[in-house]
Amino acid sequence: MTLPTPAAAPVVRPPLRLSCVVPAYNEADHLAPFLEALHATLKALTPDVEIIVVNDGSRDATQAIARELGPRLGLRYIELSRNFGKEAALTAGLAHARGNAVLLIDSDFQHPLSLVPEMAALWHSGYDMVYGVIAERAGEAWTKRVGTRLFYGLLRAGSSVDMPRHAGDFRWMDGRVVEALRRMPERNRYMKGLYAWVGFRSVALPFTPDERRSGQSHFSLRKLSMLALEGLTSFSSLPLRVWSAAGLIISFLAICYGLFIAVEAMVFGNSLAGWPTLAAGLMLFSGVQLLSIGILGEYIGRIYTEVKMRPLYLVAEDLDHSALKAATDDAPTRDA
Ligand code: UDP
Ligand code: MG
Repeated sequence: MTLPTPAAAPVVRPPLRLSCVVPAYNEADHLAPFLEALHATLKALTPDVEIIVVNDGSRDATQAIARELGPRLGLRYIELSRNFGKEAALTAGLAHARGNAVLLIDSDFQHPLSLVPEMAALWHSGYDMVYGVIAERAGEAWTKRVGTRLFYGLLRAGSSVDMPRHAGDFRWMDGRVVEALRRMPERNRYMKGLYAWVGFRSVALPFTPDERRSGQSHFSLRKLSMLALEGLTSFSSLPLRVWSAAGLIISFLAICYGLFIAVEAMVFGNSLAGWPTLAAGLMLFSGVQLLSIGILGEYIGRIYTEVKMRPLYLVAEDLDHSALKAATDDAPTRDA
């Protein structure tokens, strides 16, 4: 389940300046107690903390809560102009983070705050990325568990990047990892793939997700399937290659069939001249066409999504009560 990781080399970390990114989409029911608890946990680690709440187009009281708690908890409140999805919300949070380490955490109490000090300790001991790995999926429907297994199987089979199974967005990253993530401009964003792609010294921390405090998951089966498709197409060209392979097999079968009817005609004679050649030719060329369309599709699919160059998200409001300012030399640089 977990990746074999090299032992952390001893490093001397600069004093911790922590940015914590919290995506929130219609979480107002429990957002205030969550931010209070998070703030208390983080303040115990370092006085230099900022919590970045990314409101991903919520239609509830998220904005009012952030406004009220902002000054006291030192919040940075980023409101996106609509719901862009969790991957975009996380990207927005990372773009605005100013600390030398960043913690990503869900705002529904599912990621246990009790693990955060251990993540910090692992960072101090030399790991650049500490990621939570779901140890037990006890509360999940069997359809989701089977789907998850299938997805990871396909993803790992078709990708050259070694992606740990069941690793989510609950993670602690060094500033250098965050800077690497910011340099990736791709529009088709599958964050879990990107974390693995950037590398760095990483370690898994198994955890059992707590119950969602209120409301329900925003990831319906349909949304999860879309995300899975995003992951597969961004990190694997297997789905496209399958058709190339199909084309190749059909072409091969057509050649065999062609040879067979040629031999048959020579040995047994041929009652109706012309049609076998036609049938074999038809099959051969359909196969070749599938093959070439597959190859073309491989390129066009990639170009199409990236070439539009649309922004990943739009910021509608940015309220900054954070005491953490950039500009010390160990802080990751902010690029657009
Ligand atoms: N989220 C978001 N945008 C979305 C969906 C979810 O920012 O479009 C946030 C949500 O507020 C929560 C986190 O992403 O903090 C995880 O979402 P959720 O709990 O619904 O997913 P699950 O825990 O089932 O994976
Ligand atoms: Mg959740």
